[in-house]
Amino acid sequence: MPPALHIARAEVFLLKLPLKFRFETSFGVQTAKTVPLIVLHGANDEVGLGEGVMEDAPMFREETVTGALYLLKELFLPAILGQSFANPQAMMLALSGFRGNPMAKAMLEAAAWDLWARGLGVPLAHLLGGVRERVAVGVSLGIQASEAATVQAVEAHLAQGYRRIKLKIKPGWDVQPVAAVRAAFPDIALTVDANSAYSLADTRVFQTLDAYNLDYIEQPLAYDDLQDHAALQSRIGTPLCLDESIVSARAARQALALDAGRVINVKQGRVGGVAESLRIHDVAQAFSAPLWCGGMLESGVGRALNIHLSTLPGFSKPGDTASASRYWDTDTVNEPLEMIGGYQMVPSGPGLGVSLNREFVQSVASEHWTTDGGR
Ligand SMILES: [Mg+2]
Repeated sequence: MPPALHIARAEVFLLKLPLKFRFETSFGVQTAKTVPLIVLHGANDEVGLGEGVMEDAPMFREETVTGALYLLKELFLPAILGQSFANPQAMMLALSGFRGNPMAKAMLEAAAWDLWARGLGVPLAHLLGGVRERVAVGVSLGIQASEAATVQAVEAHLAQGYRRIKLKIKPGWDVQPVAAVRAAFPDIALTVDANSAYSLADTRVFQTLDAYNLDYIEQPLAYDDLQDHAALQSRIGTPLCLDESIVSARAARQALALDAGRVINVKQGRVGGVAESLRIHDVAQAFSAPLWCGGMLESGVGRALNIHLSTLPGFSKPGDTASASRYWDTDTVNEPLEMIGGYQMVPSGPGLGVSLNREFVQSVASEHWTTDGGR
C-alpha cells in the first residue's frame, strides 16, 4: 500500500523577480513577475513545491495573487492541514465545495503532486504517464519595436535552438511582423498569439494570415468565448489554438466538438491543476487534437512542473518551457532548467526533481508565513 499523503504544515513565499527583458503582449508591457510559492511539509518534513501563476491584476484570467493567497490562508489550507489523504486527487476533494479559482487550487495541488511523487520515490513524469526523457521547446517572443527587430529576435532564438517561434500580436501589429519573419525564414515552425485582442469583425486579418503557413493562431478572440472561435475557424484554414478559453476538460470537449479550435495550449494553473490537465489530455487524444504546454513566465518550480507535464504522449508540439536563464538572473530552484539543442531534459530525481533555492527565495521574499492550521 503506498504511503499516505500527509500535510503537516505549509509555507508560503511571495516574491517579485525582475525579468531580463521587456515583455510586450496585447495586454501591455511586463518587466517583472510576481511569484507566489508554496512549500507543503509532510509527516517527516519532506517537502513538495508549488508555484502560483495568477498575476497581480486580473489580465490573463480573473484570479489575482492577493485573492489566491487569501483563499489559501483562510479556506484551502485549513481544509487540508494536519490530515492524510490517499493521493493529491483525494486531497483536492476536500476543496470541491469551493467554486472556481483554478489557479489558487492548482498552486496547492502542484505541491501535493511533488510531495506525493517524492514519497513514492519516482519522478512526477513517470507518475503522470509521461513517455519522454526530454521535451521539445519553443519560445514566445513579445511584441518588438519594429519588423527588423522582430526578425533579429527570431534569428537569435533560432540560433539558440528553439524549435518553434511564437510571435505575440495585437491589432495593428499582426500581418506585418509575420510577413517579415516568414520572408526571412520560409520553413520554420511559426505561430502567433493574440491573447484575445480581436473580434469576429477582424476576420479579414486572419484570412490574410492564412497565406503564411502558421502552425496555428492562438486565442484570437474573447477569453470566455467558444462560439465566435468556431465561426472564425470555419472561415480560415489555419488551425486555431485555444489558451485562455480552455478552463477545464469540459471546456476542451465542447471546444473540440464545436471545432472552435484544433490545438490546445495546456496551462496547468489555468485549468485547476495537474489532474484536470490529465483529463484534458485524454479528451484531446479522443479528438486527435495536439496539445502543447504553455507558460506563464514561471520560475523554476512552475517550469519544472510544466516540463514533467509535457512528457505526456499528447503533448506533441513544442511547449513554452524555454531556458530559465532567459528570464531570470537567479532562479527559485537550484537546478538549471536550460534548453539545449531545442530540448529541456526532464529532471530525473523524485517528484519535480528540483529543490528550492531557499537562501535566495528567503532573501527576496516580501512575504513569508508558515501555518499548521492551528494543529
Ligand atoms: Mg497564449
